[in-house]
Amino acid sequence: MRIAVVGTGYVGLVTGTCFAESGHEVRCLDVDERKIATLRAGGIPIYEPGLEELVRRNVRERRLSFTTSYPEAVGGAEVVFIAVGTPPGETGEADLTHVLAAAREIGRSLGGYAVVVNKSTVPVGSAEKVAAELREVATHPFDVVSNPEFLKEGAAIEDFMRPDRVVVGVSSERARAVMAELYAPFVRAEQPVLFMDVRSAELTKYAANAMLATRISFMNEMATLCERLGADVDQVRRGVGSDRRIGQPFLFPGVGFGGSCFPKDVRAVMTMARQIGLDFDLLRAVERVNERQKRWLVEKAAKHFGALAGRTFGVWGLAFKPKTDDMREAPAITVVEGLLGNGARVKAHDPVAAEVAGRLFHGRGVELTSEPYAAAEGVDALLLVTEWNEFRNPDYARLKATMRQPVLIDGRNVWDAAKARAAGFTYYGVGRNGG
Ligand code: NAD
Repeated sequence: MRIAVVGTGYVGLVTGTCFAESGHEVRCLDVDERKIATLRAGGIPIYEPGLEELVRRNVRERRLSFTTSYPEAVGGAEVVFIAVGTPPGETGEADLTHVLAAAREIGRSLGGYAVVVNKSTVPVGSAEKVAAELREVATHPFDVVSNPEFLKEGAAIEDFMRPDRVVVGVSSERARAVMAELYAPFVRAEQPVLFMDVRSAELTKYAANAMLATRISFMNEMATLCERLGADVDQVRRGVGSDRRIGQPFLFPGVGFGGSCFPKDVRAVMTMARQIGLDFDLLRAVERVNERQKRWLVEKAAKHFGALAGRTFGVWGLAFKPKTDDMREAPAITVVEGLLGNGARVKAHDPVAAEVAGRLFHGRGVELTSEPYAAAEGVDALLLVTEWNEFRNPDYARLKATMRQPVLIDGRNVWDAAKARAAGFTYYGVGRNGG
């Protein structure tokens, strides 16, 4: 099939590349000329494991190309994906400006019947708005489908190629058949393709993210309880997670959730509910706990040191999670700003987010180091924010020799508390015994 993907970001680029890999002819479009120029020159504008190789191969084999021209991308396409950003608007709702602008351009450029697929995360009722936008300008028939994306940054290719399930909201048999054919190669292991009505599909994405965010805040709240009661949240987590009704994933306490999805999607659900007179109390608490948890590291440091002014802190990890360079709403931003705001200095290292962090903290006196131990040199404490694999087993003796004071504050509970203490460190973890 000929496919156009509008919006070549984390979701659009992965989507387009994976469909090309399954044999389709894909044109990826973006309004960001620099991004398209980078891709055309053989570069990859984001960090995502495995993506570069896949893009290269499909470009070389002429199944994947990049453009800024709507007629070029959409003109001959049978399926057009919308994968543009839906950032939070002023009152917490998802901002549909980019989605509707894309719909209008797609409508103008259609060269025949096409299935227009909304992959962006959008509030219930958006497909109807997209259809209305298309109807105003299109001279060819179309169907609008909701196909929310569940990939995780850092494992996006694997998630796309072998999804747990595919959710498709359709209102026409013709569109349903196209979507079934498109996804067939990705669900060979009998993963379900869940066809449903369009509104339910739109809400499913939000429900999934809100549920995952709730688990995280629940465990963070439980970690606080453990800390105060002298229990160990890791042991509680294992005991709870082995119940099959609960399961282990997403039960890890830490420094709060961030990224481009959970925070904005939680807010969007609350706004959607508010707009119809419902108060989603539970999610308000989820958000409140998360805001508090993002301050945990700095509060722990303040409790240990008293005043932070004049002290220097090392920070390991800046991306909102490992294996990505994405820093949108990353807890590290709250941590770094909290330290700077209290008059402390910051040295930080992240394996891939340094460039993004450099832009974000530009001119604010954050020293970004090219390797982890340089970020620990002469610091009063080392703070772990993102649990990259390379941070999991540090050389404690080397750290001790390079740091000014032996204090470790582990925001992800990945360091071995006993080993760290045996090496002479004061160790703090989230909800851990003695933490
Ligand atoms: P992104 O910011 O990385 O990419 C969006 C791209 O759309 C940008 O390159 C931007 O230049 C482009 N764009 C904006 N307006 C455009 C227009 N009118 N025409 C063409 N291109 C345009 O965003 P993302 O992280 O890929 O997210 C896209 C959507 O997918 C969002 O709704 C998000 O909530 C959802 N989503 C994201 C993830 C994730 O992990 N990032 C996972 C699932 C769903």
